[in-house]
Amino acid sequence: MSTILPLRHQAALPLDRLIRHNPPSGEALEMDVVIVGAGPAGLACALTLAQLAKRAQTAGEGMPDLNIAVLEKAGALGEHSLSGAVVNPRVFRELFPDVPVDALPFRQPVTAEAVYLLSERRAQKIPTPPTMHNAGFHTASLCEIVRWLGERAEELGVNLFPGFPVEALLVDGQAVRGVRTTPAGLDRTGGPGPSYQEATEVAGRITVLAEGTRGMLTQAWREWQRVGAPNPQIFALGVKEVWEVKQPLDRVIHTLGWPLPTDAFGGSFMYPLGPNQIAIGLVVGLDYHDASLDVHQLLQRMKLHPLFRPYLEGGQLLEWGAKTIPEGGFYALPQRRHGDGVLLIGDAAGFVDVPSLKGIHYAMQSGVFAAHAAFDALKAGTTAASALAAYDRLVDGSFIAADLHRTRNMRLAFKSGFWVGGAKAGLMTLTGGRFPGTKIDMPEDAATPRAVAAATPFTPDSVLTFSKVDAVFKSGNATRDTIPTHLLIGPDVSGEVADFYSHVCPAGVYERVGDTVRVNAPNCVDCKATDVLGPRWTPREGGSGPKYRLM
Ligand SMILES: Cc1cc2nc3c(=O)[nH]c(=O)nc-3n(C[C@H](O)[C@H](O)[C@H](O)COP(=O)(O)OP(=O)(O)OC[C@H]3O[C@@H](n4cnc5c(N)ncnc54)[C@H](O)[C@@H]3O)c2cc1C
Ligand code: SF4
Repeated sequence: MSTILPLRHQAALPLDRLIRHNPPSGEALEMDVVIVGAGPAGLACALTLAQLAKRAQTAGEGMPDLNIAVLEKAGALGEHSLSGAVVNPRVFRELFPDVPVDALPFRQPVTAEAVYLLSERRAQKIPTPPTMHNAGFHTASLCEIVRWLGERAEELGVNLFPGFPVEALLVDGQAVRGVRTTPAGLDRTGGPGPSYQEATEVAGRITVLAEGTRGMLTQAWREWQRVGAPNPQIFALGVKEVWEVKQPLDRVIHTLGWPLPTDAFGGSFMYPLGPNQIAIGLVVGLDYHDASLDVHQLLQRMKLHPLFRPYLEGGQLLEWGAKTIPEGGFYALPQRRHGDGVLLIGDAAGFVDVPSLKGIHYAMQSGVFAAHAAFDALKAGTTAASALAAYDRLVDGSFIAADLHRTRNMRLAFKSGFWVGGAKAGLMTLTGGRFPGTKIDMPEDAATPRAVAAATPFTPDSVLTFSKVDAVFKSGNATRDTIPTHLLIGPDVSGEVADFYSHVCPAGVYERVGDTVRVNAPNCVDCKATDVLGPRWTPREGGSGPKYRLM
């Protein structure tokens, strides 16, 4: 049987494009803090900074207003945000102590939950693992959370710039001094088209990278500064749908087992979003072994299972989306998450606890800590790495590091397959993470060989199940189809590799044509899965990509 080694076909990170050794020019917009990415991490950071500045002013500390900018690639806040989501509200309580819980941007409290082990036709209820208890938490749409946080940030004077993707860090020596956004209005050849707008430079005394999963700038900064980690970061791909339903869902559901093969890690979720809507999704670790595994298609099959089908029948697909999740946990955290003039927060740094599928409150809390470190550094008049190192100390002494440490080997155990991994994870829970005593080593996802096998045919019915073309339409993606491609294809992409990419990508961007690959780049929904396993993703014109409202 032939195999594909994804790493062999991957283009190198375009470091010279992502790290520009030119400090911002005199024309640059001047800010105190530039935050890249308006997700929960970036917005919590911006809000906290603005709150700290206001408090200092009220206390008569002679603090001038801070100029805070948040640059976001989505055309409007929340349009590139996707999560499950069941949210632990602890950071909301800290940031908004006077806002009652029913005024926070959540859909409903979790009142009941169940975990099932699935076979193709049956669902066996199993005891809820301790890491998966969600009592006291709330279901929510991350798009709605982000829009709400953005409004609160604007009220405090934060400058939000949606539609401004950052394509490069501007550096001077070892220090980050600001960013450069992508130009807009390029034609297919990469030359200026009729609506051309040149790139903008934004100078920042501190730049905060809050760009989320598989951030390009974070990857580039770490490679440039040689910031390693005990293990490489690994990822999962989540494909999710929001449905309007006739039958309300009364509990949070998670499943393990089918439709995944036993050598793949992952599971599904179905969450109630009020009486008429549900979120349903499937998350699969990108270290699976079968080159024909297709997460979008597995989700489509899964919806026909007797556990899910009764909820969806008679309902309507409202929205579809996809995104990767950093799954490496504690051992994949960068050795340092700070440098001269720069901080890494949220998913960009890898603050996700996989056994509980939680990242939102860790992202927000890391943003709060980054704001405190940045504020103190600005007040002290230095943005050197030594001043910003306070951020790492705050994270390392907090529940973020403690939670990730407790579950440090759980995801990694599953590289030995579902049953062995499940048994090991059970022992880890019983011993509070002390078993097996040492770090489980993990290769990067692209270093796992994939066995080439014929794909299982599947024909969607366009009622309960949908093709990738229909799915992308439901993501709201209306990217101009005349922009230059933003995906960098690597070497020796044969027909077999093209087939592999076509299965990896949930949005149907890649297609095998004879012995080569055809790339339909405008379909891309920025999930970053092929950045992990194949063609590199780079930032493109602002406002491109999905237009999620409910994800
Ligand atoms: C399928 C799925 C289910 C999940 N379920 C849960 C759950 O139930 N509960 C939970 O707590 N967590 C869950 N998570 C994890 C959680 O969503 C993340 O941990 C969280 O969103 C991370 O926040 P962030 O701000 O770091 O990154 P993000 O939310 O990804 O935000 C990053 C932002 O940066 C922007 N950006 C990226 N690059 C650039 C650039 N170059 N220029 C400008 N802007 C840029 C992006 O468009 C985005 O808006 C889930 C994740 C997925 C994918
Ligand atoms: S091409 Fe875009 S949508 Fe497809 S896997 Fe890569 S990042 Fe995701």
